[in-house]
Amino acid sequence: MSVVALEGVSKIYRSGRVSLTALDRIDLRVAAGEFTCIAGPSGSGKSTLLHLAGMLDSPSRGTVSLLGRDCTGLGRREAALLRRHHIGFVFQAFNLVPVLTAAENVEYVLLLQNRPGGERRQRVRAALEAVGLSAWADHRAADLSGGQQQRVAIARAIVGRPPFILADEPTGSLDSATGTAIIDLLLEINRSQGTTFLFSSHDPRIIARAGRVIRLVDGRISGGDNRSHG
Ligand code: ADP
Repeated sequence: MSVVALEGVSKIYRSGRVSLTALDRIDLRVAAGEFTCIAGPSGSGKSTLLHLAGMLDSPSRGTVSLLGRDCTGLGRREAALLRRHHIGFVFQAFNLVPVLTAAENVEYVLLLQNRPGGERRQRVRAALEAVGLSAWADHRAADLSGGQQQRVAIARAIVGRPPFILADEPTGSLDSATGTAIIDLLLEINRSQGTTFLFSSHDPRIIARAGRVIRLVDGRISGGDNRSHG
Protein backbone atom coordinates (compact mmCIF):
# COMPACT_ATOMS: atom_id res chain seq x y z
CA MET A 1 0.00 0.00 0.00
CA SER A 2 1.20 3.51 -0.82
CA VAL A 3 1.58 6.05 1.94
CA VAL A 4 0.40 8.67 -0.51
CA ALA A 5 -0.82 8.27 -4.08
CA LEU A 6 -1.64 10.97 -6.61
CA GLU A 7 -3.46 9.82 -9.70
CA GLY A 8 -4.05 12.07 -12.69
CA VAL A 9 -3.65 15.10 -10.46
CA SER A 10 -3.82 18.58 -11.92
CA LYS A 11 -3.92 21.85 -10.03
CA ILE A 12 -5.11 24.95 -11.80
CA TYR A 13 -4.99 28.31 -10.03
CA ARG A 14 -7.53 30.77 -11.37
CA SER A 15 -7.72 34.44 -10.78
CA GLY A 16 -10.23 36.34 -12.85
CA ARG A 17 -9.73 35.33 -16.45
CA VAL A 18 -6.23 34.11 -15.94
CA SER A 19 -5.59 30.47 -15.13
CA LEU A 20 -2.29 28.83 -14.40
CA THR A 21 -1.69 25.08 -14.51
CA ALA A 22 0.68 24.52 -11.56
CA LEU A 23 0.48 20.70 -11.81
CA ASP A 24 -0.42 18.80 -14.96
CA ARG A 25 -1.61 15.17 -14.76
CA ILE A 26 0.72 13.96 -12.05
CA ASP A 27 0.88 10.25 -11.20
CA LEU A 28 2.95 9.54 -8.12
CA ARG A 29 2.98 6.78 -5.53
CA VAL A 30 5.16 6.96 -2.47
CA ALA A 31 5.63 3.65 -0.66
CA ALA A 32 6.34 3.17 3.05
CA GLY A 33 9.94 3.88 4.02
CA GLU A 34 10.85 6.01 1.00
CA PHE A 35 13.11 9.07 1.25
CA THR A 36 11.98 10.88 -1.84
CA CYS A 37 12.86 14.30 -3.18
CA ILE A 38 10.72 16.44 -5.44
CA ALA A 39 13.33 18.36 -7.39
CA GLY A 40 12.82 21.22 -9.78
CA PRO A 41 13.39 24.91 -10.31
CA SER A 42 11.42 27.62 -8.57
CA GLY A 43 7.84 27.71 -9.88
CA SER A 44 7.88 24.11 -11.13
CA GLY A 45 5.07 23.05 -8.76
CA LYS A 46 6.96 21.45 -5.85
CA SER A 47 5.10 23.31 -3.10
CA THR A 48 1.77 22.75 -4.78
CA LEU A 49 2.46 19.01 -4.97
CA LEU A 50 3.46 18.86 -1.28
CA HIS A 51 0.34 20.82 -0.27
CA LEU A 52 -1.84 18.31 -2.14
CA ALA A 53 0.03 15.31 -0.69
CA GLY A 54 -0.45 16.86 2.78
CA MET A 55 -4.22 17.37 2.39
CA LEU A 56 -3.68 21.12 2.76
CA ASP A 57 -5.31 21.77 -0.60
CA SER A 58 -7.47 19.85 -3.10
CA PRO A 59 -6.63 18.99 -6.70
CA SER A 60 -8.58 20.51 -9.61
CA ARG A 61 -8.61 17.06 -11.20
CA GLY A 62 -7.54 13.57 -10.18
CA THR A 63 -7.41 11.83 -6.82
CA VAL A 64 -5.19 11.93 -3.75
CA SER A 65 -5.09 8.94 -1.38
CA LEU A 66 -3.44 8.71 2.01
CA LEU A 67 -2.66 5.26 3.44
CA GLY A 68 -4.98 3.63 0.92
CA ARG A 69 -7.90 5.94 1.58
CA ASP A 70 -9.21 8.28 -1.13
CA CYS A 71 -9.14 11.74 0.45
CA THR A 72 -10.06 13.80 -2.58
CA GLY A 73 -13.44 15.10 -1.44
CA LEU A 74 -12.64 15.37 2.25
CA GLY A 75 -14.05 18.30 4.24
CA ARG A 76 -11.75 20.68 6.09
CA ARG A 77 -12.31 19.18 9.53
CA GLU A 78 -11.75 15.62 8.36
CA ALA A 79 -8.61 16.68 6.49
CA ALA A 80 -7.33 18.43 9.61
CA LEU A 81 -7.85 15.31 11.73
CA LEU A 82 -6.11 13.14 9.17
CA ARG A 83 -3.13 15.50 9.06
CA ARG A 84 -2.90 15.72 12.83
CA HIS A 85 -2.58 11.97 13.24
CA HIS A 86 -0.75 10.82 10.13
CA ILE A 87 1.44 13.60 8.73
CA GLY A 88 4.31 15.66 10.10
CA PHE A 89 5.10 18.96 8.39
CA VAL A 90 8.33 20.90 8.03
CA PHE A 91 6.94 23.88 6.10
CA GLN A 92 7.89 27.55 6.09
CA ALA A 93 4.20 28.32 6.47
CA PHE A 94 4.16 26.51 9.83
CA ASN A 95 6.87 28.55 11.43
CA LEU A 96 7.71 28.22 15.09
CA VAL A 97 6.00 30.50 17.57
CA PRO A 98 8.93 32.79 18.42
CA VAL A 99 7.91 33.60 22.01
CA LEU A 100 7.42 29.95 22.97
CA THR A 101 10.34 27.76 24.02
CA ALA A 102 11.66 24.95 21.85
CA ALA A 103 9.88 22.43 24.11
CA GLU A 104 6.58 24.35 24.01
CA ASN A 105 6.67 24.56 20.21
CA VAL A 106 7.09 20.78 20.04
CA GLU A 107 4.52 20.04 22.75
CA TYR A 108 1.82 21.95 20.90
CA VAL A 109 1.25 19.02 18.50
CA LEU A 110 0.61 16.67 21.43
CA LEU A 111 -1.80 19.14 23.05
CA LEU A 112 -3.82 19.08 19.82
CA GLN A 113 -3.82 15.28 20.06
CA ASN A 114 -5.08 15.48 23.70
CA ARG A 115 -2.14 13.49 25.06
CA PRO A 116 -1.76 13.44 28.86
CA GLY A 117 0.92 15.62 30.50
CA GLY A 118 3.35 12.86 31.48
CA GLU A 119 3.35 11.38 28.00
CA ARG A 120 3.79 14.83 26.49
CA ARG A 121 6.84 15.61 28.58
CA GLN A 122 8.45 12.25 27.86
CA ARG A 123 7.83 12.51 24.12
CA VAL A 124 8.98 16.14 23.85
CA ARG A 125 12.19 15.22 25.66
CA ALA A 126 12.80 12.28 23.29
CA ALA A 127 12.06 14.36 20.17
CA LEU A 128 14.41 17.18 21.21
CA GLU A 129 17.08 14.62 22.03
CA ALA A 130 16.65 13.02 18.60
CA VAL A 131 17.43 16.35 16.93
CA GLY A 132 20.32 17.14 19.29
CA LEU A 133 18.62 20.01 21.12
CA SER A 134 18.15 18.69 24.66
CA ALA A 135 20.20 21.55 26.07
CA TRP A 136 18.03 24.14 24.32
CA ALA A 137 14.58 22.90 25.39
CA ASP A 138 13.83 25.97 27.52
CA HIS A 139 15.20 28.58 25.12
CA ARG A 140 12.73 30.68 23.20
CA ALA A 141 12.55 29.83 19.50
CA ALA A 142 13.41 33.44 18.64
CA ASP A 143 16.77 33.07 20.41
CA LEU A 144 17.88 30.01 18.40
CA SER A 145 19.95 30.00 15.19
CA GLY A 146 18.33 29.17 11.84
CA GLY A 147 19.67 25.60 11.93
CA GLN A 148 18.48 25.12 15.51
CA GLN A 149 15.04 26.46 14.63
CA GLN A 150 14.84 23.98 11.77
CA ARG A 151 15.75 21.20 14.22
CA VAL A 152 12.88 22.30 16.47
CA ALA A 153 10.57 22.19 13.44
CA ILE A 154 11.77 18.63 12.79
CA ALA A 155 11.25 17.65 16.44
CA ARG A 156 7.71 19.03 16.14
CA ALA A 157 7.16 16.99 12.97
CA ILE A 158 8.32 13.70 14.56
CA VAL A 159 6.91 14.07 18.08
CA GLY A 160 3.49 12.66 17.15
CA ARG A 161 5.27 9.71 15.46
CA PRO A 162 3.48 10.15 12.13
CA PRO A 163 4.21 7.52 9.47
CA PHE A 164 4.73 10.26 6.89
CA ILE A 165 6.63 13.57 6.93
CA LEU A 166 6.44 16.30 4.29
CA ALA A 167 9.19 18.90 4.14
CA ASP A 168 9.07 21.89 1.78
CA GLU A 169 12.63 23.08 1.03
CA PRO A 170 13.76 22.03 4.54
CA THR A 171 17.27 23.38 3.92
CA GLY A 172 16.22 26.38 1.83
CA SER A 173 17.11 29.14 4.28
CA LEU A 174 20.25 27.49 5.69
CA ASP A 175 23.92 27.69 4.76
CA SER A 176 25.28 24.66 2.99
CA ALA A 177 26.94 22.89 5.96
CA THR A 178 23.84 23.38 8.14
CA GLY A 179 21.61 22.28 5.27
CA THR A 180 23.59 19.07 4.83
CA ALA A 181 23.38 18.36 8.58
CA ILE A 182 19.60 18.85 8.46
CA ILE A 183 19.10 16.50 5.51
CA ASP A 184 21.31 13.90 7.23
CA LEU A 185 19.13 14.21 10.33
CA LEU A 186 16.01 13.55 8.24
CA LEU A 187 17.72 10.56 6.62
CA GLU A 188 18.68 9.21 10.04
CA ILE A 189 15.02 9.47 11.19
CA ASN A 190 13.96 7.74 7.97
CA ARG A 191 16.40 4.87 8.54
CA SER A 192 15.96 4.44 12.30
CA GLN A 193 12.18 4.88 12.54
CA GLY A 194 11.03 3.88 9.07
CA THR A 195 9.28 7.23 8.63
CA THR A 196 8.40 7.94 5.00
CA PHE A 197 9.68 11.29 3.71
CA LEU A 198 8.64 13.40 0.77
CA PHE A 199 10.62 16.64 0.57
CA SER A 200 11.40 19.29 -2.00
CA SER A 201 14.67 20.91 -2.97
CA HIS A 202 16.39 22.61 -5.83
CA ASP A 203 19.86 22.14 -4.30
CA PRO A 204 21.89 19.41 -6.08
CA ARG A 205 23.76 18.45 -2.89
CA ILE A 206 20.48 17.87 -1.06
CA ILE A 207 18.88 16.08 -4.00
CA ALA A 208 21.89 13.73 -4.10
CA ARG A 209 20.97 12.45 -0.60
CA ALA A 210 17.52 11.22 -1.73
CA GLY A 211 16.70 7.56 -2.29
CA ARG A 212 14.43 8.57 -5.16
CA VAL A 213 14.18 11.78 -7.13
CA ILE A 214 11.05 13.04 -8.89
CA ARG A 215 11.90 15.87 -11.28
CA LEU A 216 9.24 18.49 -11.93
CA VAL A 217 9.39 20.86 -14.87
CA ASP A 218 6.48 23.26 -15.46
CA GLY A 219 4.15 21.12 -13.36
CA ARG A 220 4.94 17.83 -15.07
CA ILE A 221 7.12 14.92 -14.05
CA SER A 222 10.05 14.87 -16.43
CA GLY A 223 12.10 11.93 -17.61
CA GLY A 224 10.58 9.28 -15.36
CA ASP A 225 11.91 8.99 -11.87
CA ASN A 226 15.19 7.83 -10.60
CA ARG A 227 15.68 5.36 -7.78
CA SER A 228 19.34 5.71 -7.07
CA HIS A 229 19.65 3.67 -3.87
CA GLY A 230 18.87 -0.01 -3.81
P1 ADP B 1 7.72 25.67 -6.47
O1 ADP B 1 7.42 25.17 -5.10
O2 ADP B 1 8.39 24.65 -7.34
O3 ADP B 1 8.47 26.97 -6.47
P2 ADP B 1 4.90 26.32 -6.62
O4 ADP B 1 4.12 25.08 -6.41
O5 ADP B 1 5.03 27.26 -5.47
O6 ADP B 1 6.34 25.95 -7.22
O7 ADP B 1 4.26 27.15 -7.82
C1 ADP B 1 3.94 26.57 -9.07
C2 ADP B 1 3.24 27.62 -9.91
O8 ADP B 1 1.97 27.92 -9.36
C3 ADP B 1 3.99 28.95 -9.97
O9 ADP B 1 3.81 29.50 -11.26
C4 ADP B 1 3.28 29.80 -8.94
O10 ADP B 1 3.38 31.17 -9.24
C5 ADP B 1 1.85 29.30 -9.03
N1 ADP B 1 1.12 29.39 -7.75
C6 ADP B 1 1.48 28.77 -6.59
N2 ADP B 1 0.57 29.03 -5.63
C7 ADP B 1 -0.37 29.82 -6.19
C8 ADP B 1 -1.58 30.43 -5.70
N3 ADP B 1 -2.01 30.26 -4.46
N4 ADP B 1 -2.29 31.18 -6.57
C9 ADP B 1 -1.88 31.36 -7.84
N5 ADP B 1 -0.75 30.81 -8.37
C10 ADP B 1 -0.02 30.06 -7.56
